[in-house]
Amino acid sequence: MVKSQHAEAHKSINDALSLILDIQELDMQMIQLMRLKRERKREMENITAIKSDLSHQIKAKEGEVLELKTLIKIGEEELKEIQEKLKELENKQSSVKKVDEFNALSHEMSQVDKQRAAKEQNLSDLMDKLSQEEELLKNIKESLVSTVESSKVLESEIMTRIQEINKEGSLIKVKRDELVAEASPEVFSIYERLLQNKKDRVVVPIENRTCSGCHIQLTAQDENLVRKAERMIFCEHCSRILYWPQADDQDQAGAQGRGRRRRSRQTA
Ligand SMILES: [Zn+2]
Repeated sequence: MVKSQHAEAHKSINDALSLILDIQELDMQMIQLMRLKRERKREMENITAIKSDLSHQIKAKEGEVLELKTLIKIGEEELKEIQEKLKELENKQSSVKKVDEFNALSHEMSQVDKQRAAKEQNLSDLMDKLSQEEELLKNIKESLVSTVESSKVLESEIMTRIQEINKEGSLIKVKRDELVAEASPEVFSIYERLLQNKKDRVVVPIENRTCSGCHIQLTAQDENLVRKAERMIFCEHCSRILYWPQADDQDQAGAQGRGRRRRSRQTA
């Protein structure tokens, strides 16, 4: 009686884990898919960042150009005032009679003329600067246009890939939902909690008396418990659920993928 109960338990734990292993493979595919999706999204963000950086550069450069134009306008008005003042002094000088007044005006005129020369130099520098900045602005604008153009193809490729990933993901989810509906709720909830923590396989075979999840050596007693499969056995080092590979897998233990194929063929 006790023996048959054990046999029953043996069967049910292995069956429960067998279903969970199928779910686990789908989850591994899903994790890989989500990783790919994140990479694609990052590529998209990079393109957006490059474009937005160029747009910011354009705005900043337009600001500088506008400021230079304002400075030039003010400078030109100041120059005009200086020129008018110079003309005024010339007129005044032509009408003075006394030598000392004439000399004083000459001195003043030479001062104003120096101001005029300095202002003209200043304006010429500003004009040079303006044409440099306008050239830079033109280059950045061209660069933005070509970036927008060249990234169109890449962006549409990325979008297509993301859509494919989403489609693939929903197919996996459908299959997974079907399996979850059949799974033992108790085993499944333990599995899912472990998966959330590890984002990796959490139901793993014992191989050469070693947990194939964390590769730490187990005791003979642990091994026996797993082999008996009377209840779920967890690796005490990494908390993964351990299972005993099928009889015909044992001589080839180590190749988990191969073991899995054999196991599925058997259950199919
Ligand atoms: Zn372990």
